[in-house]
Amino acid sequence: MAYEKKEQLYEGKAKKVYATQDPNVVIVSYKDDATAFNGLKKGTITGKGAINNRMTNNLMRRLEAKGVPTHLVEELSDRETAVKKVSIVPLEVIIRNLSAGSFAKRYGVEEGIVFDAPTIEFSYKNDDLGDPLINTYHALALKLATAEEIALIKNYAFTVNELLKGFMKEIGIDLVDFKLEFGRTADGQIVLADEISPDTCRLWDEKTHEKLDKDRFRRDLGGAEEAYEEVMRRLTGVE
Ligand code: UDP
Repeated sequence: MAYEKKEQLYEGKAKKVYATQDPNVVIVSYKDDATAFNGLKKGTITGKGAINNRMTNNLMRRLEAKGVPTHLVEELSDRETAVKKVSIVPLEVIIRNLSAGSFAKRYGVEEGIVFDAPTIEFSYKNDDLGDPLINTYHALALKLATAEEIALIKNYAFTVNELLKGFMKEIGIDLVDFKLEFGRTADGQIVLADEISPDTCRLWDEKTHEKLDKDRFRRDLGGAEEAYEEVMRRLTGVE
């Protein structure tokens, strides 16, 4: 089926979403815009949109093959993909294998501590409030999801971690941490949505520990474009 791009439904920080002729399918279009610190820092990572689109689809196809349901329908072009229309569960699901970022800051520890077991945390997806940390009791109280949905989301998130850690290890990368978002389809199924890219994962070269992710932009380290290209090149062997 050829999906036609209709009216724009939404513009977020890194993507635009368009309607199609199918009410259950939308088109996401990835931008090169980069933001950090809840939108306070703004910039551009040239070529990022195309890389994040293709990397997300590459990883989601492989997760689907291992039994994780995703929103992916069909890659349409370098920057555009048809996905199932979902209502996003307003929880950012963060899994960590090593200490970094806000975890290191919050608990006053250095980055790079290897955990014995992965951790999970949730943030309430709400820009006005700055995406505050939330526990599952709070999520239930706020009716953000049902207990069954939260249990399923936790399960999927840890499964994605094991699979993604493996995919990254194959290409010499340590998966430090990442953020997932889930959505509900029209028929109420919970599926993995949003993206899996260097914007949403911390990826360190296993040997040099070089950062191959958005921290290059957040921390003004330079070389963000090259880092995103490097991950894509290793993942597909072509980029
Ligand atoms: N993350 C994300 N979007 C957010 C917050 C975090 O994709 O709004 C990702 C981030 O790239 C990292 C992981 O989630 O891979 C954990 O982020 P952390 O809580 O350490 O926050 P940060 O240091 O990025 O503010």
